[in-house]
Amino acid sequence: MNKKLAIEITNLNKSYDDVEAVRGIDLKINKGEFYGLLGPNGAGKSTTINSITSLVKPSKGNIKIFEKDIEENFRFARSKVGIAQQEVSQDWFFPLEQLLYFQAGFYGVTRPNAKERIDYILDKLGLSAHKNKKMRELSGGMKRRLQIAKALVHDPEIIILDEPTAGVDVELRHDLWTYLQELHRDGKTILLTTHYIDEAELLCERVGIIDNGKLIVEDSVDNLKKLVNKSSIVIHLKNDIYDINFLGGFDYHISEKKVYIQTESPNLDLPKIILKFSEASINIEDVHIPQTSLEDVFLDLTGRKIND
Ligand code: ADP
Repeated sequence: MNKKLAIEITNLNKSYDDVEAVRGIDLKINKGEFYGLLGPNGAGKSTTINSITSLVKPSKGNIKIFEKDIEENFRFARSKVGIAQQEVSQDWFFPLEQLLYFQAGFYGVTRPNAKERIDYILDKLGLSAHKNKKMRELSGGMKRRLQIAKALVHDPEIIILDEPTAGVDVELRHDLWTYLQELHRDGKTILLTTHYIDEAELLCERVGIIDNGKLIVEDSVDNLKKLVNKSSIVIHLKNDIYDINFLGGFDYHISEKKVYIQTESPNLDLPKIILKFSEASINIEDVHIPQTSLEDVFLDLTGRKIND
C-alpha cells in the first residue's frame, strides 16, 4: 500500500524579476516523515516552503496537502500546516502571549481551547516566564521560539520550519532539536530547511539537497553518504614507506607517511589490514577511519561547500 502523502510538490518554479529562485522542484513527503531541505543560502529553500503555505505565489507548478490542491482547498491547507518563517514578525506593541492569541484567532481556535494550547506551547518552548514581554524585549533565541510557537498554536499535522536554529545558541539548539524529535514521535510531519549539516544528519529521515533552485538529490542520510567515494581507512606510519605490495587485493595510495586504503567495510577490513602491516614488520603510528558527512556529499555533487 502506498504511504499517504502529506506534501506533494510538482514542477515548482518561481522567478522574482530576473532571478530564477526555484527551477522545477518535485518533492513528495510522506505523512509522519521528518524531511530536511539542506542547501546553501540563496538555494531556493525558503521560496519552496513558502509556496506550500501560499506566502509565495509560484510562477508554475502545483502543490497538494494530503492529496488536495492548495489553491482549490485553501482553508483545508491552512488548517493542516503551521509554518515558522525565518523572518521575525514586526509586532512590537503586544506581549508575546497576546500575539499567540491573535494567531489562534486567525486559525479559528476558540478562546478556551487556545488558552490550554498556548499555556502548553509556552511551557514546551521555555517561554512561560517571558509571556508578558514585548518583541523588543526578546532575545534572538526567544524571537525564534516565538516564531515556532506561532506555527504550533493550531496544532497542525504538518510543521514547516525555515532555519529553526539559525543564530540560536548551542543549548537552545539542543532543546529545540529535542522538542522537534518529540513532535515527530507524536506523528507530526516535519519539513525543515537548514544549512547546518549536523542538524540535517541528526534529525531528518530523508534529506533533499537543494542548490541553485534545483533538488539535486534526495535520500536517507545513510544512503546519501554512500554516494561519496572516500578513502575509508587511513594508516599513519612511523617511517616513510614506498611500497606496500603486501596489501594485495586492496586499492590504496601512499602520501608521505600515510596510506589511504579504499574499502566498503572499513570496520571489517581494518583487523586484516593491521595484520598485514604487522606481518611485514611495518610500524603503525595511528589508524583513522574518516567519517563521511553530508558536506562531502554536497562537495562531491557541486564542487562547493554548503557554507562557503
Ligand atoms: P534560501 O532559503 O535557500 O536561502 P531563497 O528561497 O530565500 O533561498 O532565495 C532564492 C533566491 O531568490 C535568492 O537568489 C534570493 O535572493 C531570491 N529571492 C528570494 N526572495 C526574493 C524576493 N522577495 N525578491 C527577489 N528575489 C528574491
